[in-house]
Amino acid sequence: MDFAEFSLICERIEGISGRLEMIEIVASVLPHLLEDELPVFVRFVMGRVFPDWSPLKLGIGPNLLYEAVGYVAGRKKAAVVAAVNETGDVGLAVERLLATKSQTSFFSEALTLTGVYADCTRIATTDGSRSQREKLRVIEGLLGNAGALEGRYLSRLLLEELRIGVGEGNVRDAVARAFAVDASLVAHAHQALNDLGEVALLARQGEEALRAVRIEPFRPVKMMLAQQGTIGEMVADHGAVAVEYKYDGTRFQFHKVGKECRMYSRKLEDVTGAVPDVIEALDRAIPHDVIVDGEVIAVKDGRPRPFQFVLQRFRRKHEVEEAIGRVDLVPHLFDILYLDGDTIIDRPFFERRKILEGTASAYLAPQWVSDDVSRLEEIYADALDAGHEGVMLKTLDAAYTPGVRGKNWIKIKPAVDTLDLAVIGAEWGEGRRARLFGSFLLACQQEGELLPVGKVATGLSDEDLAAIYDLLKDLVIAEKGKEVVLEPVVVFEVGYAEVQKSPTYASGYALRFPRFVRVREDKGVDEVETVDGMLERYERQLKFV
Ligand code: ATP
Repeated sequence: MDFAEFSLICERIEGISGRLEMIEIVASVLPHLLEDELPVFVRFVMGRVFPDWSPLKLGIGPNLLYEAVGYVAGRKKAAVVAAVNETGDVGLAVERLLATKSQTSFFSEALTLTGVYADCTRIATTDGSRSQREKLRVIEGLLGNAGALEGRYLSRLLLEELRIGVGEGNVRDAVARAFAVDASLVAHAHQALNDLGEVALLARQGEEALRAVRIEPFRPVKMMLAQQGTIGEMVADHGAVAVEYKYDGTRFQFHKVGKECRMYSRKLEDVTGAVPDVIEALDRAIPHDVIVDGEVIAVKDGRPRPFQFVLQRFRRKHEVEEAIGRVDLVPHLFDILYLDGDTIIDRPFFERRKILEGTASAYLAPQWVSDDVSRLEEIYADALDAGHEGVMLKTLDAAYTPGVRGKNWIKIKPAVDTLDLAVIGAEWGEGRRARLFGSFLLACQQEGELLPVGKVATGLSDEDLAAIYDLLKDLVIAEKGKEVVLEPVVVFEVGYAEVQKSPTYASGYALRFPRFVRVREDKGVDEVETVDGMLERYERQLKFV
């Protein structure tokens, strides 16, 4: 498929708002794609380039892109920035600039889907001191071969934000429909493989192939997540449940085959190099090929230390040895997904727990099973006394559902309610803070789209503002007056007094008294609160009035 054709499809999708029509369009394209095009198309149409589990990251910031656009369009970078500011969208600005460019090359070749993917792979695998230059050259090569409409979608794709509203849910449904397979099999295979591109290839082969999916070591699986709830409700709904401490540390997934061990963070980054002490400890404790799930906490003088201490270690690339002595990192294992060649995510939790107990000789998170509310409350109180965040209640018969924030894991912790939201814009500060951003536009998500819920400007110290500016300064996509549009990468945790319905913001919700708590460096923007979650919070408030 030519990239021009892909761009036309994107344009059609961008022009409609109905979910069903969107699915219909995507589904009608899939059967006609070649073997190597299908996975690429599936990812591209969601604005992604590589599988979620892949260590490859495109990592193109607006600055690099604008420079390349300027070169190709024969304009200064400032003119590109001005065009983006005027249109408020990178894609439209690039389209406009490319439409007016004079013939730049007599040798321009048609861009193909797989050709663009190959170039993206080159960009992601270039490193070293000259890497920025080389990346720039590849991007210039791509844009130089692009027509105006291709430029719109190519530039957005390079920033990994296609803005046509096609999210994972739509693509899963489109795949099921295109190849006449059961949607729940597609969803299940997606959980295990963490790449809808590959799932589409299996779906094309049929339901048997989807059923046969296995998780593979060294290909991280999304983590199962928890909802809020109460001990009373959980026992009323399920009777006996498992209870574990909720550790305030950092989530990890540990993979081991033979002598090789790797560790992945919650964002599925490979952090093996940063935590050799934890890896060695787990390697010794687990004499099997495994994928296990757990939380690592920092401990000093027998008490848990705040979670930032662990994050600092997870992010460390240099002087790892020196850092090891300062705090002890202790892993706590609470689940197992794979053992000696077998995928076991579909086994019920009580079975997985037994397997885990028989597999790891140490570092097991203690677990109790009870249907007695007062006993569970006692364990919750013990957890808080011991310096943990609270407890997790887990249903005994549930499968491990990667990436799903379901009702099978319930977190119980003291009621300081906070929200994790994506930072999608900012406003320059005033007076002494005029060279920093002073307020931030936040968004929740729905079907892969980020929708604003309001701004936060309180709870930020001067140090916070300076550190946040450093995080955001290279993410500026467009600027209008005092406001900037940001590439959505950073996640804030914010406190609030109340969730309100609001016609002002596209999400339909706003926050009363939002207050910055911290940057959630362990979370990506695909993990921020959903619109459904906002509704749930809104309704929960009503219960307590
Ligand atoms: P929070 O902000 O409350 O930590 P979260 O948004 O980070 O929540 P949740 O899915 O709501 O993530 O809560 C589950 C998180 O709790 C897990 O991702 C994990 O990091 C942590 N955790 C600590 N102890 C446990 C445990 N025993 N079982 C499962 N998760 C645990």
